[in-house]
Amino acid sequence: MIPEKLREKIEEIIDGCLECKSKPCMKNCIMLNEFGEDPKSILKECIAKNEIPDKLVYSCNMCNRCTIACPKDYKIQDIFMESRILKIKRNNGKSPMKGHRAIEAHQYLGYSNFFNTVNKAPKGNKTKRIFFPGCSLPSYNSKAVGNILDFLQEKYDGEIGSVLKCCGKPTKSLGQVEAFEKRYAAVQKAIDDTGAEEIIVACQSCYRVFKEHSPNQRVRSLWEILPELGLPEQTKEIGKDSDVVFGIHDSCSTRDNVEIQNGVRRILAQMGYKTEESVNTRGNTRCCGFGGMVMPANPEVAHAVITERGTEYKTDHIVSYCAACRESMENAGKDSVHILDLVFGDRYIKASAEKRSQGSVRQWINRFKSKKELNKRK
Ligand code: SF4
Ligand code: SF4
Ligand code: SF4
Repeated sequence: MIPEKLREKIEEIIDGCLECKSKPCMKNCIMLNEFGEDPKSILKECIAKNEIPDKLVYSCNMCNRCTIACPKDYKIQDIFMESRILKIKRNNGKSPMKGHRAIEAHQYLGYSNFFNTVNKAPKGNKTKRIFFPGCSLPSYNSKAVGNILDFLQEKYDGEIGSVLKCCGKPTKSLGQVEAFEKRYAAVQKAIDDTGAEEIIVACQSCYRVFKEHSPNQRVRSLWEILPELGLPEQTKEIGKDSDVVFGIHDSCSTRDNVEIQNGVRRILAQMGYKTEESVNTRGNTRCCGFGGMVMPANPEVAHAVITERGTEYKTDHIVSYCAACRESMENAGKDSVHILDLVFGDRYIKASAEKRSQGSVRQWINRFKSKKELNKRK
Protein backbone atom coordinates (compact mmCIF):
# COMPACT_ATOMS: atom_id res chain seq x y z
CA MET A 1 0.00 0.00 0.00
CA ILE A 2 1.28 3.45 -0.90
CA PRO A 3 0.77 5.94 1.95
CA GLU A 4 -0.97 9.24 1.24
CA LYS A 5 2.09 11.54 1.32
CA LEU A 6 4.12 9.37 -1.02
CA ARG A 7 1.10 8.97 -3.29
CA GLU A 8 0.84 12.78 -3.55
CA LYS A 9 4.50 13.04 -4.56
CA ILE A 10 4.05 10.36 -7.21
CA GLU A 11 0.89 11.99 -8.55
CA GLU A 12 2.70 15.31 -8.79
CA ILE A 13 5.13 13.70 -11.25
CA ILE A 14 2.36 11.87 -13.12
CA ASP A 15 0.32 15.09 -13.51
CA GLY A 16 3.23 17.40 -14.28
CA CYS A 17 5.38 15.20 -16.53
CA LEU A 18 5.83 16.87 -19.91
CA GLU A 19 6.10 13.51 -21.67
CA CYS A 20 9.16 14.86 -23.46
CA LYS A 21 9.45 13.46 -26.97
CA SER A 22 13.20 12.86 -26.65
CA LYS A 23 12.73 11.19 -23.22
CA PRO A 24 15.89 12.60 -21.60
CA CYS A 25 15.17 10.81 -18.32
CA MET A 26 14.98 7.43 -20.07
CA LYS A 27 18.09 8.11 -22.15
CA ASN A 28 20.00 8.63 -18.93
CA CYS A 29 18.78 5.58 -17.07
CA ILE A 30 19.22 1.94 -17.94
CA MET A 31 17.04 0.66 -15.13
CA LEU A 32 13.92 2.74 -15.89
CA ASN A 33 13.95 1.25 -19.38
CA GLU A 34 13.73 -2.18 -17.84
CA PHE A 35 10.50 -1.31 -16.06
CA GLY A 36 8.55 0.63 -18.67
CA GLU A 37 8.28 3.25 -21.41
CA ASP A 38 8.67 6.35 -19.25
CA PRO A 39 8.45 7.46 -15.58
CA LYS A 40 4.83 8.50 -16.00
CA SER A 41 3.60 5.09 -17.14
CA ILE A 42 5.80 3.27 -14.59
CA LEU A 43 4.46 5.39 -11.74
CA LYS A 44 0.87 5.21 -13.02
CA GLU A 45 1.04 1.44 -12.84
CA CYS A 46 2.30 1.68 -9.24
CA ILE A 47 -0.65 3.90 -8.31
CA ALA A 48 -3.09 1.56 -10.06
CA LYS A 49 -1.72 -1.42 -8.14
CA ASN A 50 -1.28 0.64 -4.97
CA GLU A 51 2.21 -0.83 -4.65
CA ILE A 52 5.74 0.01 -5.78
CA PRO A 53 7.49 -3.28 -6.61
CA ASP A 54 10.51 -4.16 -4.44
CA LYS A 55 12.67 -4.82 -7.48
CA LEU A 56 11.90 -1.42 -9.01
CA VAL A 57 12.69 0.39 -5.78
CA TYR A 58 15.98 -1.45 -5.26
CA SER A 59 17.15 -1.16 -8.88
CA CYS A 60 17.82 2.58 -8.65
CA ASN A 61 21.49 3.57 -8.39
CA MET A 62 20.46 6.85 -6.71
CA CYS A 63 22.70 8.56 -9.26
CA ASN A 64 20.54 11.63 -9.93
CA ARG A 65 21.07 11.50 -13.70
CA CYS A 66 17.34 11.48 -14.47
CA THR A 67 16.82 14.62 -12.37
CA ILE A 68 19.66 16.47 -14.10
CA ALA A 69 18.18 15.57 -17.49
CA CYS A 70 14.57 16.40 -16.57
CA PRO A 71 13.33 19.93 -17.43
CA LYS A 72 11.13 19.74 -14.33
CA ASP A 73 13.89 18.40 -12.07
CA TYR A 74 11.77 15.48 -10.93
CA LYS A 75 13.54 13.54 -8.21
CA ILE A 76 12.52 10.01 -9.07
CA GLN A 77 15.21 8.61 -6.78
CA ASP A 78 13.51 10.30 -3.80
CA ILE A 79 10.34 8.31 -4.55
CA PHE A 80 12.39 5.12 -4.54
CA MET A 81 14.32 6.06 -1.39
CA GLU A 82 11.13 6.88 0.49
CA SER A 83 9.70 3.55 -0.66
CA ARG A 84 12.80 1.73 0.59
CA ILE A 85 12.40 3.30 4.03
CA LEU A 86 8.74 2.22 4.16
CA LYS A 87 9.51 -1.30 3.01
CA ILE A 88 12.20 -1.68 5.67
CA LYS A 89 9.81 -0.48 8.38
CA ARG A 90 7.18 -2.97 7.27
CA ASN A 91 9.74 -5.77 7.13
CA ASN A 92 11.10 -5.48 10.68
CA GLY A 93 14.18 -3.54 9.66
CA LYS A 94 15.25 -5.98 6.93
CA SER A 95 15.45 -5.45 3.19
CA PRO A 96 12.81 -7.41 1.27
CA MET A 97 15.48 -8.35 -1.30
CA LYS A 98 17.15 -11.68 -0.53
CA GLY A 99 20.39 -10.52 -2.14
CA HIS A 100 20.74 -7.83 0.51
CA ARG A 101 21.36 -10.40 3.27
CA ALA A 102 25.02 -10.26 2.20
CA ILE A 103 25.09 -6.45 2.61
CA GLU A 104 23.48 -6.72 6.04
CA ALA A 105 26.07 -9.31 7.11
CA HIS A 106 28.83 -7.16 5.62
CA GLN A 107 27.64 -4.16 7.65
CA TYR A 108 27.42 -6.23 10.82
CA LEU A 109 31.04 -7.37 10.39
CA GLY A 110 32.13 -3.89 9.34
CA TYR A 111 31.19 -2.56 12.77
CA SER A 112 32.92 -5.29 14.75
CA ASN A 113 35.89 -4.22 16.86
CA PHE A 114 38.01 -6.68 14.94
CA PHE A 115 37.91 -4.40 11.89
CA ASN A 116 37.61 -1.05 13.65
CA THR A 117 40.10 1.21 15.36
CA VAL A 118 40.18 4.73 16.79
CA ASN A 119 43.52 6.46 17.29
CA LYS A 120 44.27 9.91 18.59
CA ALA A 121 47.26 11.79 17.19
CA PRO A 122 50.62 10.15 18.06
CA LYS A 123 53.03 11.18 20.83
CA GLY A 124 50.40 13.03 22.85
CA ASN A 125 49.96 15.66 20.11
CA LYS A 126 46.66 17.49 19.92
CA THR A 127 44.24 15.66 17.60
CA LYS A 128 43.17 18.51 15.36
CA ARG A 129 41.98 16.18 12.63
CA ILE A 130 41.34 12.55 11.92
CA PHE A 131 41.85 10.58 8.74
CA PHE A 132 38.79 8.43 7.94
CA PRO A 133 39.73 6.00 5.14
CA GLY A 134 36.23 4.44 5.04
CA CYS A 135 35.94 0.76 4.27
CA SER A 136 36.30 0.25 0.53
CA LEU A 137 39.86 1.66 0.33
CA PRO A 138 41.11 -0.31 3.39
CA SER A 139 39.58 -3.46 1.88
CA TYR A 140 41.53 -2.83 -1.31
CA ASN A 141 44.95 -1.44 -0.41
CA SER A 142 46.17 -1.45 3.20
CA LYS A 143 49.63 -0.13 2.26
CA ALA A 144 48.11 2.99 0.70
CA VAL A 145 46.13 3.57 3.91
CA GLY A 146 49.35 3.50 5.97
CA ASN A 147 51.27 5.59 3.43
CA ILE A 148 48.65 8.31 3.31
CA LEU A 149 48.52 8.57 7.11
CA ASP A 150 52.34 8.86 7.19
CA PHE A 151 52.11 11.64 4.66
CA LEU A 152 49.35 13.50 6.52
CA GLN A 153 51.12 13.15 9.87
CA GLU A 154 54.24 14.66 8.37
CA LYS A 155 52.36 17.53 6.74
CA TYR A 156 50.22 18.27 9.81
CA ASP A 157 53.06 18.09 12.36
CA GLY A 158 51.71 14.88 13.83
CA GLU A 159 48.41 16.48 14.86
CA ILE A 160 46.21 13.93 13.11
CA GLY A 161 44.69 10.67 14.31
CA SER A 162 42.67 8.03 12.49
CA VAL A 163 39.32 6.28 12.70
CA LEU A 164 38.70 3.01 10.87
CA LYS A 165 34.98 2.40 10.79
CA CYS A 166 32.24 2.25 8.21
CA CYS A 167 30.22 5.44 7.81
CA GLY A 168 27.06 3.36 7.41
CA LYS A 169 26.28 4.38 3.84
CA PRO A 170 25.18 0.85 2.78
CA THR A 171 22.75 0.70 5.72
CA LYS A 172 21.42 4.11 4.76
CA SER A 173 21.15 3.15 1.08
CA LEU A 174 18.99 0.16 1.90
CA GLY A 175 16.59 2.49 3.71
CA GLN A 176 17.42 1.20 7.20
CA VAL A 177 17.12 4.60 8.83
CA GLU A 178 17.01 3.47 12.46
CA ALA A 179 19.98 1.14 12.12
CA PHE A 180 21.90 3.85 10.29
CA GLU A 181 21.22 6.44 12.99
CA LYS A 182 22.38 4.05 15.69
CA ARG A 183 25.53 3.11 13.80
CA TYR A 184 26.32 6.65 12.80
CA ALA A 185 25.94 7.84 16.40
CA ALA A 186 28.72 5.39 17.36
CA VAL A 187 30.95 6.71 14.55
CA GLN A 188 30.27 10.29 15.59
CA LYS A 189 31.02 9.54 19.24
CA ALA A 190 34.32 7.90 18.32
CA ILE A 191 35.33 10.98 16.33
CA ASP A 192 34.12 13.42 19.00
CA ASP A 193 36.08 11.52 21.66
CA THR A 194 39.30 12.22 19.76
CA GLY A 195 38.55 15.96 19.94
CA ALA A 196 39.04 16.34 16.16
CA GLU A 197 37.60 19.41 14.48
CA GLU A 198 38.20 18.16 10.96
CA ILE A 199 37.53 14.85 9.20
CA ILE A 200 39.60 13.96 6.14
CA VAL A 201 37.89 11.32 4.01
CA ALA A 202 39.14 9.19 1.12
CA CYS A 203 35.70 8.10 -0.07
CA GLN A 204 33.12 10.29 -1.80
CA SER A 205 30.16 8.54 -0.20
CA CYS A 206 31.70 9.07 3.24
CA TYR A 207 32.15 12.71 2.25
CA ARG A 208 28.44 13.09 1.60
CA VAL A 209 27.42 11.21 4.72
CA PHE A 210 29.68 13.30 6.97
CA LYS A 211 28.66 16.56 5.29
CA GLU A 212 25.06 15.73 6.01
CA HIS A 213 25.37 14.29 9.50
CA SER A 214 28.43 15.86 11.17
CA PRO A 215 27.75 19.60 11.24
CA ASN A 216 30.26 20.19 14.05
CA GLN A 217 33.28 19.00 12.10
CA ARG A 218 34.80 20.39 8.95
CA VAL A 219 34.73 17.67 6.30
CA ARG A 220 37.42 17.62 3.64
CA SER A 221 38.28 15.24 0.87
CA LEU A 222 41.78 13.86 0.52
CA TRP A 223 41.58 14.79 -3.16
CA GLU A 224 41.19 18.50 -2.34
CA ILE A 225 43.92 18.38 0.27
CA LEU A 226 46.64 16.40 -1.54
CA PRO A 227 47.34 18.94 -4.29
CA GLU A 228 47.28 21.76 -1.74
CA LEU A 229 49.84 20.04 0.46
CA GLY A 230 51.94 18.98 -2.53
CA LEU A 231 52.50 15.37 -3.53
CA PRO A 232 55.28 13.25 -2.06
CA GLU A 233 58.54 14.34 -3.71
CA GLN A 234 59.20 10.98 -5.43
CA THR A 235 55.76 11.12 -7.08
CA LYS A 236 56.06 14.46 -8.85
CA GLU A 237 56.39 14.06 -12.63
CA ILE A 238 56.62 10.28 -12.20
CA GLY A 239 54.23 9.67 -15.10
CA LYS A 240 55.82 12.16 -17.48
CA ASP A 241 57.12 9.61 -19.98
CA SER A 242 54.43 7.00 -19.41
CA ASP A 243 52.80 5.47 -22.50
CA VAL A 244 49.43 5.35 -20.69
CA VAL A 245 46.50 7.72 -21.13
CA PHE A 246 44.17 7.47 -18.14
CA GLY A 247 40.44 7.98 -18.48
CA ILE A 248 39.15 9.71 -15.34
CA HIS A 249 36.05 8.24 -13.74
CA ASP A 250 34.31 10.75 -11.45
CA SER A 251 32.23 9.41 -8.56
CA CYS A 252 28.55 10.22 -8.98
CA SER A 253 28.11 10.79 -5.24
CA THR A 254 30.12 14.03 -5.48
CA ARG A 255 29.04 15.04 -8.98
CA ASP A 256 28.31 18.54 -7.68
CA ASN A 257 31.72 19.00 -6.01
CA VAL A 258 34.03 20.79 -8.42
CA GLU A 259 36.83 21.10 -5.83
CA ILE A 260 37.15 17.32 -5.55
CA GLN A 261 37.03 16.87 -9.33
CA ASN A 262 39.64 19.61 -9.85
CA GLY A 263 41.78 18.15 -7.08
CA VAL A 264 41.95 14.75 -8.77
CA ARG A 265 42.98 16.36 -12.05
CA ARG A 266 45.61 18.45 -10.31
CA ILE A 267 47.05 15.34 -8.65
CA LEU A 268 47.28 13.54 -12.00
CA ALA A 269 48.78 16.65 -13.64
CA GLN A 270 51.37 16.98 -10.86
CA MET A 271 52.30 13.35 -11.46
CA GLY A 272 52.62 14.10 -15.17
CA TYR A 273 50.15 11.47 -16.42
CA LYS A 274 48.19 12.07 -19.62
CA THR A 275 44.42 11.92 -19.12
CA GLU A 276 41.22 11.61 -21.14
CA GLU A 277 37.72 12.77 -20.19
CA SER A 278 34.76 10.54 -20.99
CA VAL A 279 31.69 11.91 -22.76
CA ASN A 280 29.99 12.03 -19.36
CA THR A 281 32.41 13.63 -16.98
CA ARG A 282 32.48 15.69 -13.76
CA GLY A 283 28.94 16.91 -12.91
CA ASN A 284 27.55 14.80 -15.71
CA THR A 285 29.32 11.59 -14.71
CA ARG A 286 27.52 8.26 -14.78
CA CYS A 287 27.22 5.84 -11.87
CA CYS A 288 29.80 3.03 -11.92
CA GLY A 289 26.96 0.58 -11.18
CA PHE A 290 27.78 0.24 -7.48
CA GLY A 291 25.41 2.97 -6.23
CA GLY A 292 22.17 2.26 -4.39
CA MET A 293 23.16 -1.34 -3.52
CA VAL A 294 21.67 -2.45 -6.84
CA MET A 295 24.11 -5.28 -7.58
CA PRO A 296 22.67 -7.77 -5.05
CA ALA A 297 19.09 -6.78 -5.89
CA ASN A 298 19.22 -6.61 -9.67
CA PRO A 299 22.60 -7.85 -10.97
CA GLU A 300 21.48 -7.67 -14.62
CA VAL A 301 20.84 -3.93 -14.37
CA ALA A 302 24.00 -3.32 -12.34
CA HIS A 303 26.11 -5.16 -14.93
CA ALA A 304 24.47 -3.23 -17.76
CA VAL A 305 25.28 0.08 -16.01
CA ILE A 306 28.90 -1.00 -15.46
CA THR A 307 29.34 -2.11 -19.07
CA GLU A 308 27.79 1.08 -20.43
CA ARG A 309 30.13 3.23 -18.37
CA GLY A 310 33.15 1.29 -19.64
CA THR A 311 32.19 1.96 -23.26
CA GLU A 312 32.42 5.72 -22.71
CA TYR A 313 36.23 5.71 -22.75
CA LYS A 314 38.57 5.34 -25.71
CA THR A 315 41.48 4.35 -23.49
CA ASP A 316 41.81 0.94 -21.81
CA HIS A 317 43.15 2.47 -18.58
CA ILE A 318 40.83 4.09 -16.05
CA VAL A 319 41.73 5.92 -12.87
CA SER A 320 39.10 6.27 -10.13
CA TYR A 321 39.22 7.88 -6.70
CA CYS A 322 36.87 5.44 -5.00
CA ALA A 323 37.84 1.80 -4.51
CA ALA A 324 34.30 0.62 -5.32
CA CYS A 325 34.31 2.58 -8.59
CA ARG A 326 37.72 1.09 -9.36
CA GLU A 327 36.34 -2.42 -9.00
CA SER A 328 33.38 -1.60 -11.23
CA MET A 329 35.64 -0.24 -13.95
CA GLU A 330 37.65 -3.47 -13.83
CA ASN A 331 34.37 -5.36 -14.18
CA ALA A 332 33.72 -3.20 -17.24
CA GLY A 333 36.78 -4.84 -18.80
CA LYS A 334 39.18 -1.95 -18.23
CA ASP A 335 42.62 -1.86 -16.68
CA SER A 336 41.53 -0.07 -13.54
CA VAL A 337 43.59 1.73 -10.88
CA HIS A 338 42.83 3.73 -7.76
CA ILE A 339 44.53 7.11 -7.75
CA LEU A 340 46.52 6.12 -4.63
CA ASP A 341 47.97 3.16 -6.58
CA LEU A 342 49.63 5.85 -8.69
CA VAL A 343 50.54 8.26 -5.88
CA PHE A 344 52.42 5.55 -3.99
CA GLY A 345 53.44 3.39 -6.94
CA ASP A 346 56.19 3.17 -9.54
CA ARG A 347 55.83 4.82 -12.95
CA TYR A 348 52.70 3.31 -14.48
CA ILE A 349 53.05 2.04 -18.04
CA LYS A 350 50.88 -0.10 -20.31
CA ALA A 351 52.79 -3.19 -19.18
CA SER A 352 51.73 -2.46 -15.57
CA ALA A 353 48.15 -3.46 -16.42
CA GLU A 354 46.81 -6.32 -14.31
CA LYS A 355 43.66 -7.52 -12.58
CA ARG A 356 43.52 -6.02 -9.10
CA SER A 357 40.12 -7.07 -7.75
CA GLN A 358 40.24 -9.50 -4.86
CA GLY A 359 37.75 -11.93 -3.37
CA SER A 360 35.80 -11.07 -0.25
CA VAL A 361 38.05 -13.04 2.17
CA ARG A 362 41.09 -11.23 0.83
CA GLN A 363 39.26 -7.92 1.22
CA TRP A 364 38.53 -8.60 4.89
CA ILE A 365 42.19 -9.55 5.41
CA ASN A 366 43.17 -6.24 3.79
CA ARG A 367 40.82 -4.41 6.08
CA PHE A 368 42.40 -6.02 9.10
CA LYS A 369 45.85 -5.14 7.74
CA SER A 370 44.68 -1.54 7.31
CA LYS A 371 43.75 -1.49 10.98
CA LYS A 372 47.30 -2.66 11.80
CA GLU A 373 48.76 0.04 9.54
CA LEU A 374 46.77 2.74 11.34
CA ASN A 375 47.59 1.33 14.78
CA LYS A 376 51.32 1.39 13.95
CA ARG A 377 51.05 5.15 13.62
CA LYS A 378 49.31 6.00 16.88
S1 SF4 B 1 18.57 8.12 -9.93
FE1 SF4 B 1 19.76 7.14 -11.58
S2 SF4 B 1 19.21 4.97 -11.47
FE2 SF4 B 1 17.68 6.09 -10.28
S3 SF4 B 1 16.00 6.45 -11.68
FE3 SF4 B 1 17.33 8.25 -11.80
S4 SF4 B 1 18.80 7.86 -13.46
FE4 SF4 B 1 17.78 5.92 -12.93
S1 SF4 C 1 12.40 14.26 -18.49
FE1 SF4 C 1 11.01 14.75 -16.80
S2 SF4 C 1 9.31 15.79 -17.76
FE2 SF4 C 1 10.43 14.78 -19.42
S3 SF4 C 1 9.44 12.77 -19.66
FE3 SF4 C 1 11.08 12.49 -18.19
S4 SF4 C 1 10.14 12.79 -16.17
FE4 SF4 C 1 8.74 13.64 -17.71
S1 SF4 D 1 30.81 5.34 1.95
FE1 SF4 D 1 31.12 3.29 1.39
S2 SF4 D 1 33.29 2.98 1.38
FE2 SF4 D 1 32.91 4.84 2.44
S3 SF4 D 1 32.91 4.12 4.56
FE3 SF4 D 1 30.85 4.28 3.86
S4 SF4 D 1 30.36 2.30 3.18
FE4 SF4 D 1 32.52 2.40 3.35
